[in-house]
Amino acid sequence: MVRKCSVVGRSGSVGLHSFPLDLEIRRQWLRSIGVQDNSQLPPGAVVCNQHFTRDSFANMMEFEMGYSARLHLKREAVPTVALP
Ligand SMILES: [Zn+2]
Repeated sequence: MVRKCSVVGRSGSVGLHSFPLDLEIRRQWLRSIGVQDNSQLPPGAVVCNQHFTRDSFANMMEFEMGYSARLHLKREAVPTVALP
């Protein structure tokens, strides 16, 4: 299965982030991307970097300076950018 961004109309397949396990934050993600219910989410669903603001990432500086290969989300980050 090709993992791709869960946000409708987006085909990003780089910088993907799994849904958080924390139920409250997970609910905020679902609301953000327009999914009504957790059960509508396919297993392994992911959201790409494009939907998060710069300050959602714990290591933006390291990433930009080339010390990190990929961005890591802060625990409480919620996608807010480029949503339907
Ligand atoms: Zn995306």
